[in-house]
Amino acid sequence: MPPPGAYYGPPPQAPYPAAPYPAPAATGAWTYPPPPAPAPYPAPGPAPAPAAPVSPSANRPLLGPLLGSPAWQAEVRAVAKELVANLSAEYQPRVANVPIVFDPNPNDVNAFASCDNNGAPFVAATEGLLDAVDAISQTRATDELFGTQTYQTYANLVAPAIVSKGGGSALLPAGVIPAAYWMDPRRISRAHEIFDETVAFTFGHELSHHYLGHTGCAMQQAGLLPQALAQLGQLLTSGPATFNQPNEMLADNYGCRNTLDTGLARSGVAYRWTEGGGLWLLDFFEHLSRAGVASPLVSILLSHPDPALRIPLVQAAASSWHLQHP
Ligand SMILES: [Zn+2]
Repeated sequence: MPPPGAYYGPPPQAPYPAAPYPAPAATGAWTYPPPPAPAPYPAPGPAPAPAAPVSPSANRPLLGPLLGSPAWQAEVRAVAKELVANLSAEYQPRVANVPIVFDPNPNDVNAFASCDNNGAPFVAATEGLLDAVDAISQTRATDELFGTQTYQTYANLVAPAIVSKGGGSALLPAGVIPAAYWMDPRRISRAHEIFDETVAFTFGHELSHHYLGHTGCAMQQAGLLPQALAQLGQLLTSGPATFNQPNEMLADNYGCRNTLDTGLARSGVAYRWTEGGGLWLLDFFEHLSRAGVASPLVSILLSHPDPALRIPLVQAAASSWHLQHP
């Protein structure tokens, strides 16, 4: 059984792939899951908001809501599939079959790449991470459209609880988003877009740990039936993982570039992902970091570098990518 920290290997020797990346595979495989059942949103209030200053959904199809964990998990898998389809021919086969597993822990906000007992790679995320990404998406979309400050309200509300000894949930508390805005289809669609964009950076980062060889278990085709779930609890309770700073910096760089490559590839038919989602998630981690001494429950802060260091790194990776893709 590999020790929990085994996925932090030595810095890879391979140089970055030559830019531009190979043309993304024309998969055409991306489709959103069918629209879920009608939303149990609160009824809109009597005073609808004034017209939004921006309409980011203009010229793009309106997307339906992502409601609850099963929908979020399905969305993560669809986003990851799209990310993999846009990797280079060298990296794609290494992660083509890597499963994504979810830990039901609502009081941890984390995602990681590791190897199971049989040496097969997997990527894991906690329920708390999905809760946070949903809440960030809902609040950011609302603020963007209506000029509100709901993201700040959310982060200030939940961060102290999440890092407290008893732990706390990252779920969006009721009332943060004014009821009048809940049903706005532009808001729902924009939240869906931001959810995908944020998930893309998160899982782009984790997948890169595998295809860059940091975990050591993804250099050939992955097995189909990992023991990942059985080991999850042990991984999450085995104490703080030490992290390998060079590997984390590489993963942020590759995750960002994979997100932007995929965004470009999909831009003809869907929202073009940017680095914005990843930066917003890192901003949320920074709120957690500032809220107090890192709780052992918030393993993201122990297994990854300080978010204040990661943000400029992702911004630099994105700037470099944009220069190469004017
Ligand atoms: Zn990492």
